[in-house]
Amino acid sequence: MKIAFFDTKPYDKEFFDMYGRQHGVKFKYYEAKLNGDTVGLAKDFDGVCAFVNDTVDASVIDSLNAMGVKILALRCAGYNNVDMKHAFGKIHVLRVPAYSPYAVAEHTMALLLTSVRRIHKAYIRTKDFNFSLAGFTGFDLHGKTVGIIGTGKIGRVFTDICKGFGMKVLAYDKFPVQGYADGENVKYVDTDTLFKESDVISLHCPLTDETRHIINKDSIDKCKKGVIILNTSRGGLVDAEALLNGIKERKVGAACLDVYEEEADLFFEDYSGHIVEDDTLARLISMPNVIVTSHQAFLTKEALSNIAETTVQNIVDMIKDGQCRNELCFRGGSAVDCKDGKCF
Ligand code: NAD
Repeated sequence: MKIAFFDTKPYDKEFFDMYGRQHGVKFKYYEAKLNGDTVGLAKDFDGVCAFVNDTVDASVIDSLNAMGVKILALRCAGYNNVDMKHAFGKIHVLRVPAYSPYAVAEHTMALLLTSVRRIHKAYIRTKDFNFSLAGFTGFDLHGKTVGIIGTGKIGRVFTDICKGFGMKVLAYDKFPVQGYADGENVKYVDTDTLFKESDVISLHCPLTDETRHIINKDSIDKCKKGVIILNTSRGGLVDAEALLNGIKERKVGAACLDVYEEEADLFFEDYSGHIVEDDTLARLISMPNVIVTSHQAFLTKEALSNIAETTVQNIVDMIKDGQCRNELCFRGGSAVDCKDGKCF
């Protein structure tokens, strides 16, 4: 089995080579992202392996289909970069629905603590032997209210972490999870209540037409003054211009972003010697109360190992059995997990 692997980073190879060897899957690693210009590299392969910032639009799908490439193995959970409607019937789309919700939830708390206790500033100051504490006054998380949008795997782990800190949890989910709310410290509420009452808001829902810019001017207007916005989910959930304005107006107290709507051409790459053209991102990064990490939340050894193991298993199942429990289908207007293995 031969798979063209796009957007390769050095840390991908160790685990993909290991699990690939065990199961007879050979990866050809390309540093290029998958898009209309690079799709030709997939010629003569059984499948392609893609990540969050590869572009799998209708024309890429048609090219893959024309070349006889039958498998698109996503090595991530989200699939907002795939035209799922167009893919149906042309290519099997496989994903890794869960690899380590702990990796992402723990990174979210790392960002929150860094922001609230000004660790990002203190680190730089003490490196320069500046031991002044001026401007570093934070606040206790204990007793504060966190609003969690999306109570899936990551949202629920983050809830547990927040409960450990003695925080109250307000949650919103389009499909509430039974047994999640305890009626006391963890409650489901509507979005207006969540925006109005939360000291911290953390996004853990997928990016869909409904959730795009769920953090926008209107929602920020409803928030408490000083609210902290955490986004470790997908950049498009936040209207970055509205967030920037909220920060300038001192309405938003801080923002921690592991993802950014226009991240595709920037994140994961070294632009330290370049002039970054994106003024909104540059302005956000310049703010003392904004922390940006480069889509790093998933990056733990455990997650990388689980991603590679599941991706390889998905490919093997699809090629050997013609079905895979992690296949995505397009039904009733949206993408769904394929339950019966007969998507085509
Ligand atoms: P999940 O599918 O387990 O949970 C998503 C939750 O969002 C579900 O409970 C679902 O009902 C809810 N939801 C769906 N539509 C909604 C809507 N319109 N409004 C509110 N809630 C809605 O997914 P997960 O594994 O917890 O991952 C959450 C998100 O985290 C993913 O979609 C992905 O974009 C992101 N993610 C980011 C990283 C990273 O490295 N930064 C890594 C993995 C996942």
